Parts: sequence; structure tokens; C-alpha cells
Amino acid sequence: MILVLKQGTSTDKVNEICAWLQKQFGVQTSPIFGSGTTIIGLVGDTSGISVETLELEEAVERVMKVQEPYKRSNRKFHPDNTVIRIGDTEIGGERLAIIAGPCSVESEEQIIQIARDVKDAGALFLRGGAFKPRTSPYAFQGLKAEGLMYMKKARQATGLPVVSEITNPAQLELFMEFVDVIQVGTRNMQNFELLKELGRVRKPILLKRGFANTLDELLMSAEYIMSGGNTDVILCERGIRTFETSTRNTLDISAIPVLKSRSHLPVFVDPSHAAGIAWLVEPLSKAAVAVGADGLIIEVHNDPKHALSDGQQSLTPEGFVDLMGRLRPVAAAVGRSI
Ligand code: PEP
Ligand code: MN
Repeated sequence: MILVLKQGTSTDKVNEICAWLQKQFGVQTSPIFGSGTTIIGLVGDTSGISVETLELEEAVERVMKVQEPYKRSNRKFHPDNTVIRIGDTEIGGERLAIIAGPCSVESEEQIIQIARDVKDAGALFLRGGAFKPRTSPYAFQGLKAEGLMYMKKARQATGLPVVSEITNPAQLELFMEFVDVIQVGTRNMQNFELLKELGRVRKPILLKRGFANTLDELLMSAEYIMSGGNTDVILCERGIRTFETSTRNTLDISAIPVLKSRSHLPVFVDPSHAAGIAWLVEPLSKAAVAVGADGLIIEVHNDPKHALSDGQQSLTPEGFVDLMGRLRPVAAAVGRSI
């Protein structure tokens, strides 16, 4: 349920109404002071609350029922786009945020070199996996804590904030120390115990869509994190399983405008894991930017042939420079910059 308040309602009055709603109906309240209007979102069991009772409060302009099960991630609760600030970088603003780097951190030299290369090409964040959720237990599993330490060194060397994937709540302490944005991978989108833990921290979460999950399920997973109090969630489309075998996954391009309309959260696209092939990263990136993505996460490796994971879909640093150049006019065409 959403209460739209009359223009000019004071902050004291908003707080008073929130306290009344919590006490009277046992619901949680989430006031949003937007440009012009203020709204109060009600979360919890609202089935026994009548619209007429709420309308008795004179500061209430209008009451709207929210049918969708996702509330805090719902655009109806927060009409303006959410912009997440990390240092001096913004996610969800006019400038697209490009995250780039290798699938896995392989050594200190490798990650620092790639960090320098992608920064020079215009990336705003460095990616690098340290805890790798591999399909085969015999495949490279990542450098783990050592890998996160190298990510921190790469951040010190370049100033780029770093993004890495968590696979287990027991790793959280390490991530709080070494990582700026915590990634939840496709395989863990519905690891609800992990999501609940991430709701308790104050660090942005890049939440990837499960490869067999609907957009509503993705938004419910965002809701798990947000209901714990961590509202800095970035949604990421990374391709889904279909009958098509020409690509590693099928990039669901309609997911971007659909998510943007249902939710106020920033929406990213991972063309690398969608495509699974390096040459397809450019066309998928262009499409993602054209339909309104707020950012991209792209795999870049200085020696793709010898990469310990996902070399086949990794761009070289030179390929990444070319891609950035070709994305700029597409971004400009939709009113964004890179
Ligand atoms: C990754 O980003 O390296 C990764 C494993 O992605 P996903 O969870 O989308 O497969
Ligand atoms: Mn990868």
C-alpha cells in the first residue's frame, strides 16, 4: 500500500503518520521524499487496513494498493530512479557505469595490469572473481582470500572500486574489508540465507538474475536484501537458459525495459556470460545500452588464450578500448554518456 501525501506536508507530520501506521497496524513504513510529493510505502500485512481509514488522515492525498509482492524494489514505492554512490562514482545516473576485468583474479601482476588497462579505456569499476562457482569441481576454483587481497591492491594502484562475487555468508567479513560492490552470481540468486546476510550489510550488491528465473523472482530476491535494510541493489541481466545453443545463454533484452518499468533500481547487463563468445560482446553491449541499461559488466583478459576461466568470452584490453569507442555514440543516442 502507498500513501501519497499532500504537497507541503512537513517532515514532522510524515514521521507522526509513520509512527501511527506502525503502532496502529503493525506495518513497516518507508517514507520517500521525492521531488514535489512525499509518499509512504507500507510493508507487511496490509490486508486488514481499509483505504477509508487511511483517508481520514488529512495529510493523505491518495491511497494506492500495490498488488505486486515486491514492495521496496517496486517503482510505485520510489518513483525516481535510485542512484547509488560509491566514492565519487555514481551508478544509475546519466553516465553509464562500466565494470570490466577478468573472470578470475589469477595473480597480483595480472589484475593490476588489467585494472590499469580498463581504467585507461574508461571503465569505472574493476571486476575479478576470487571465489569461483565452477560447474566442474576439477576446474580452477579461484584464489579465494588471496585473490581479494590482490583486488584491493589493484584498487590502491588505480583508484578503481572493485567488484567480486560472494558464494557463502562465511566469506562476508573478507568482502567487507576488500570489496566495494558485492556480486551475487546467477547460481546464488535464490540463496536466501546469503541474501538475508547481505541485507544486514551496508555495501552495494550486484544481483545477477538466475539463469532460469523470472524477472519477478529476481525482484523478490532484491526484496530479500532490501527488507534487511540494504537498499543499494543493482539488478543484472546475464542471459537465461533457452533451447538455443548458438550462444552460452540467451540475452533477454526485454528484461531491461521491463525491470526499469517495474523497479527504480539500476539495471546492468553482462553481455560476456550471455554471449559466451568474445565477438558477440560488442553487439549485445550496444543493444543493452540502446534499451536503457545503466551499466555493463564485461570480461577483459590480457591473455584470453591462457585465461584460467572464461577466456573464450573475454575481450583483450585493445578489444575493450574499441568497444568503448563504439558504445559512445549509442549511449549519446539515448541521452547517456560513458
Ligand atoms: C562471473 O561473473 O564470473 C559469473 C560467474 O557470472 P554468472 O554468475 O552470471 O555466471
Ligand atoms: Mn566468468
